Amino acid sequence: MDIVLATRNKKKIEEIKKILSEGIAGERIVNVFTPDDFPRCLEVEEDGETFEANAVKKAVYISMCTGMTAIADDSGLEVDALNGAPGVFSARYAGEAANDIANCEKLLLEMKEVSQDKRGARFVCCIAMASRDDVKTFFGYVEGKIGAEMRGKKGFGYDPLFFPEGFQRTFAEMSDDEKNALSHRGRALKELQKYIKEKKKAGLIR
Ligand code: IMP
Repeated sequence: MDIVLATRNKKKIEEIKKILSEGIAGERIVNVFTPDDFPRCLEVEEDGETFEANAVKKAVYISMCTGMTAIADDSGLEVDALNGAPGVFSARYAGEAANDIANCEKLLLEMKEVSQDKRGARFVCCIAMASRDDVKTFFGYVEGKIGAEMRGKKGFGYDPLFFPEGFQRTFAEMSDDEKNALSHRGRALKELQKYIKEKKKAGLIR
């Protein structure tokens, strides 16, 4: 099976490839393409109000444009003390061209006065899988807390600030496998695997 990942975020691509390295529901993925392999496919504007709307838009467009099965990830961080911000704006929290460090610094600033017991947050991931306009979505969540300073060099985005529940280390201080086993992305992709397996068992797909 060949798939195209509807994202240009290199870190997300690495994580998704690793999580799906055993294939999808037993079916080996032979080739993983990205939009960079299809220069005629345009950039998709992420203007939806929900993770799901953005994931569906990206997956359907890329599948239509390439004729292949497409998997899109839309994800972000919801912070309780900020009423769910940055949410769908996670990638551009500190401005349109913001990088990960600028976004983390802005979050630290917004959280400066927030006490330790009110620093709850969660990562949310919506995975959309589309074969042309036939699309299905899967969700994954991981609860945790926002730290008071950046810790660790691995991962991307807000990883240096996020302590998953039950751990004294941030995602940026964990190995890839450790993060993937706990993460919103790992969990959403597990839901996708479960769905395809059930469909196969019921003989609804071959
Ligand atoms: P988008 O899904 O491309 O709109 O961007 C998601 C943004 O959410 C990323 O740029 C990160 O800032 C943040 N994010 C999503 N998943 C993760 C993760 O696994 N670790 C850290 N930050 C993440």
